[in-house]
Amino acid sequence: MRNIPPSVKKPSRYSGAEVRTPLLPWEEADTRVLLAFPDVYEIGMSHLGILLLYELVNARRKTLCERVFAPWRDMEEHLRATGSPLVSLESARPARDFDVLGFSLSYELTYTNVLAMLDLAGIPLLRTNRRESDPVILGGGVCTLNPAPVAEFFDALLVGDGEEAILEIVDRVEDRKRRSGNRDALLRDLSEIEGVYVPGVSAKVSRRVLPDLAMSPLIPSPILPAMRVVHDRLSIEISRGCTRGCRFCQAGYAYRPVRERDPLLLLRYLQEVAPKTGYDEVGLLSLSAADYGCIDRLITDAMETLSPEESPCPSLPFGWTRSGRTPCARSGRSGRPGSRSRRRQARRGSGGPSTRRWTTATSCARPSGFSPTGGRGSSSTSWWGSPGRRRTTCARSGNWSGRCPRSHAGTGGGTS
Ligand code: SF4
Repeated sequence: MRNIPPSVKKPSRYSGAEVRTPLLPWEEADTRVLLAFPDVYEIGMSHLGILLLYELVNARRKTLCERVFAPWRDMEEHLRATGSPLVSLESARPARDFDVLGFSLSYELTYTNVLAMLDLAGIPLLRTNRRESDPVILGGGVCTLNPAPVAEFFDALLVGDGEEAILEIVDRVEDRKRRSGNRDALLRDLSEIEGVYVPGVSAKVSRRVLPDLAMSPLIPSPILPAMRVVHDRLSIEISRGCTRGCRFCQAGYAYRPVRERDPLLLLRYLQEVAPKTGYDEVGLLSLSAADYGCIDRLITDAMETLSPEESPCPSLPFGWTRSGRTPCARSGRSGRPGSRSRRRQARRGSGGPSTRRWTTATSCARPSGFSPTGGRGSSSTSWWGSPGRRRTTCARSGNWSGRCPRSHAGTGGGTS
């Protein structure tokens, strides 16, 4: 796919020219996973789930994880006309050479793109037609709550949170390779993993739930995309699930129960990692971010830290000063002329410091130091929290330590 003809629009979708941490060489990896997003690059790179799994799998020993996105129609026509296969973004290896091809199913309209990608990769569409040499086709994401419509096309479907289950799946795949086991035996193995539904094998499946958001990493070196993506900012998941429990809302049910991330870990991440990523904005992700237990303290302290001179905007542009932007420590880039925060400044019509003051209350019982525990990541700095240690703090009390008085865990929210 690197041989991009001039007729293809937005070639940076396929170039792989991103700022990112180098990966394990292909030859040194025992297990190779390809994460596929069935939509174009700029949409897929705005999806936090695929980036989280990418980080987790690459942190596993002797494991390589790469990405592939759906080609736009012009590129698809080029691939079909030249007989070229669908290849990964990083190493440009054919998708069918990987051990696992995992699709993220975020919305049903991408189902046809999944089939197009399988077709371009030269992998049989129906699971019953697949050969021993074909990769395991895995599906995950919120759509798998109803796996039946796509069950004929996937070897296994992961229902629920993927952080733990993806590593268990890779363990089983690696075992199969070591023992030269067959495909049917592997699928039976996979069906024993909690949250994994194997069509034709599993009778039923229960949704996999990550018990504590501290077990999901904050990405230490996020990929800086090769082009402007839809959500062109550093995304940080502050909580999962929603306290509101609206009856009509799929997400409110799909992501139950409510789990909140340690605010001290978030603040430390914002202070130490965010300014080095090359992004000029950070987004605090949640189904309902305003319901995060200490959202006001988190935003206030983050603003004090990241933009002490100005920028009261809650979308948290950081590193911004009147003279320009702090250069990125990784890429050396100092900013793009058309960046969103710059445009926003211009729209406000001032370009200078805001007159609005953001203050920080100092009466909280903040612990003297941050102590995120080391996780299983290969990085020297681990951006994991401490499972079971909840410093979720209530906005009403203003206290950073102690348990949140709202008892979310296991309830799935539901105040309605
Ligand atoms: S408040 Fe929560 S449950 Fe209600 S619609 Fe929004 S995300 Fe869904």
